[in-house]
Amino acid sequence: MKEILILVGPLLKGVAFCLLPLSYYLLGMLNYSQAGKASLLGFFILGTLFCWRKIWGAWRLLTFALGFSLVLLTASIVFQVSIRQIFGMQQDDVLVVQALLNTNLEEVRGFFSQYMRHIAVHLIFSLVFLATYWRLLVVAGRDLTHHHPARRRRTTIIMALVMSILLVIIHSNSSLRKANPLFYFHYNYKKMSKEMEQARRLREELAQGIVSPVLSSMHLKPGIDKKTVVLVIGESDTRNNWSLYGYGRKTNPELEKLREQLLIFDDVLAADGSTVGSVTRMLTAATYRNPDIWKSSPTIMATARHLGYKVFWIANQGSENRGVVPMLAAQADTTIFTNRGMDRGESSFDEVLIDPYESALADPAARKLIIVHLLGAHPAYNFRYPKPYGIFEKNFDDPVALNLKEAGRAPWAIHLRNMYDSALLYQDHILAQLLGSLIKGRGEDASWLYIADHGQDVAHNTDYSGHNYRVKEQWEVPLLIWRSKGNTVNNEAREMLVRRAYQADFLDHTILGLLGGEGDLYDPELDLLSDAYRSTRILPRRMRDTNYD
Ligand SMILES: [Zn+2]
Repeated sequence: MKEILILVGPLLKGVAFCLLPLSYYLLGMLNYSQAGKASLLGFFILGTLFCWRKIWGAWRLLTFALGFSLVLLTASIVFQVSIRQIFGMQQDDVLVVQALLNTNLEEVRGFFSQYMRHIAVHLIFSLVFLATYWRLLVVAGRDLTHHHPARRRRTTIIMALVMSILLVIIHSNSSLRKANPLFYFHYNYKKMSKEMEQARRLREELAQGIVSPVLSSMHLKPGIDKKTVVLVIGESDTRNNWSLYGYGRKTNPELEKLREQLLIFDDVLAADGSTVGSVTRMLTAATYRNPDIWKSSPTIMATARHLGYKVFWIANQGSENRGVVPMLAAQADTTIFTNRGMDRGESSFDEVLIDPYESALADPAARKLIIVHLLGAHPAYNFRYPKPYGIFEKNFDDPVALNLKEAGRAPWAIHLRNMYDSALLYQDHILAQLLGSLIKGRGEDASWLYIADHGQDVAHNTDYSGHNYRVKEQWEVPLLIWRSKGNTVNNEAREMLVRRAYQADFLDHTILGLLGGEGDLYDPELDLLSDAYRSTRILPRRMRDTNYD
């Protein structure tokens, strides 16, 4: 027994290092992939070094390498924990790298003075860990290295060789290689240069749209002097879970009070199954069949400005979309990102949008286009609503939950559904507030449109919850329109109108219609509200790889 313990001793010391990432994982401060990679690297790097030290114990360089690796591995863990805690980002997020490589001394000082309290705890914790580890396993373990019997020495050499080979092999996995602090900066520097080059090219292409000749063909319909158009873009929101569309839980108590004033379209598909694809296709001429044309054609924002609108972009999400959505946002006159973390990870409730939205409504410009980009019901759902809105969290025996149970869903899957519905309930409150503020400014010519970028599969089909391009719930989105004028259609005509089949890659035409734009970029046959609308131009609709109709 003692013999075996002495033999595997170096490996156990490697395992002991995993206690650090493991405890951060258990505290919820590293996700399983971060903790897993840090553990694997720690085990293989330190385990290998300990094996070799057992053979050449007198060799100082090995002890130095051990110390160096220990400090580097620990520092990398502290770095990841701090970044995640402060920004809600992972260390390979391009923004982190950009910030690290482009920062100056002033910023570093400001950063540390602001966040020192957060970081200090981790620094102290890791220093205590390092000191204990060093004292117990590196310094004290040294005595074991003398007087090996020849057989044990042979086994140790084999073990050291095997560990060294494994250490090389695990580095063939690119995701592990990237997690190794030795390669981190080099890898990310290359990646960042590439992304910045791409971003530069895209920005140039977008700028070309602004001077494109097609833009000069656009003009305002006569009689539009003052007008406010609000476009609210939701996130991961399927209409299958809206009580306004017949869902079994009352997820739209506030919008239901406005039902009579709303056009509630019930046959609309998302432009795409992902945020970037969808937002790009809704706000530019790009469509499912022609996805790249947005790079050369003017955006809705550029067109609105050409038509004399002041354009606002107010978003509670930003950078995770790797540049494209913020680049579109940059085409507005005024751009406001409310999410402190600049990320979609941690909680920044959508109510932070209300104040800047109210200021935009109060802006004296005669014509305004206000685009509001919600965080909506983006996973993780439990981060999307304040506590009081979690009223479905414990619902395990209402009809919706019982139906799911009957269909064989696991309790945890139903729990996710409950949190998702709570997120939608909170969103209902936000949407009613956004619309309510606009209605209050009565007398003004105004329109309001809400659509989600895409839906979500929340245990609708299996226990799975999240983005799922293959199912209809990912594509069936709510679309609501309110107009201060033009809602005078009789009930029958209204019924016909809201039943129109539509896919949101043509939404640019509907928005241009609301703005009162005419010209080469506007095709009334693709405008959901136009008398000239023709469904044959829309059908059949697509869900990525399959037909919906
Ligand atoms: Zn999305």
